[in-house]
Amino acid sequence: MTHVLILGGTTEASALAAALAHAGIAATLSYAGRVANPRAQPVAVRVGGFGGVAGLVEWLQVKRVSHLVDATHPFAAQMSAHAVAAAAQAGVPHLALTRPAWAAETADRWTRVADIPAAVAALAGGPRRVMLALGRMHVDAFAAMPQHRYLLRFVDPPRTAIALPGHRLVVDRGPFTVEGDLALLRREAIELLVCKNAGGSGAQAKLIAARTLGLPVVMIDRPPLPDRVEVHDVAAVLHWIGHAADRGV
Ligand code: NAP
Repeated sequence: MTHVLILGGTTEASALAAALAHAGIAATLSYAGRVANPRAQPVAVRVGGFGGVAGLVEWLQVKRVSHLVDATHPFAAQMSAHAVAAAAQAGVPHLALTRPAWAAETADRWTRVADIPAAVAALAGGPRRVMLALGRMHVDAFAAMPQHRYLLRFVDPPRTAIALPGHRLVVDRGPFTVEGDLALLRREAIELLVCKNAGGSGAQAKLIAARTLGLPVVMIDRPPLPDRVEVHDVAAVLHWIGHAADRGV
């Protein structure tokens, strides 16, 4: 029997859940539990970590998962590495549903950096008005550059105090538009944007807005991941589910 486990927390995972429900294919969508009120889903939902690779292997076996689809955010590197290892151990076919990374266009002024510490280091120098479009988890690292005035945008109000001395917080889960982000960057007189190369259209508005205003961007590259098969659209996942067993993937 088919039972698809979707590792989620992204719009792609929700789109896949909707497509599987529509096709009458049994699926469970898994959330890490970072967001307070994730949206309702047309498939079964579970919340919270599995307990490392061993916990995920056990879940795959106990729940008789036939297909594992990793549709986590491209920066959820630990979960993605666990998925590759657990799928191999449990002998469950595995596929990643990802968004292609963004590529700089001619008018973009990007400085590409490898990770959060490199992004922090890129902010050395005099005070500027900086938008950190990073989510809650990584902003405290920027306390090492306290000379700047920071603009933060989170999905939920933070549960713990933010360590940045000079900051302003906007709570908004989008969807974001180019017009809206242009207005925000102008209103806050932002001089520099820091963001992760998440890819996809939902988070791209701020980049187009930065390009329009000629603002520099510190772009954090995706973390390295183990080798895996990746597709970029839901139709390809449905096709794979129909054929993975035949191919012995
Ligand atoms: P991570 O560092 O790769 O994962 C840390 C641990 O969280 C994992 O080892 C796992 O715990 C648990 N976990 C992560 N995703 C899970 C899922 N979908 N279902 C069950 N457990 C999960 O991940 P992260 O960067 O903290 O991201 C957490 C979640 O937020 C992911 O679902 C991701 O899609 C979403 N998200 C992340 C970002 C980002 O920038 N990182 C942005 C938007 C959305 P165990 O080891 O106990 O299994």
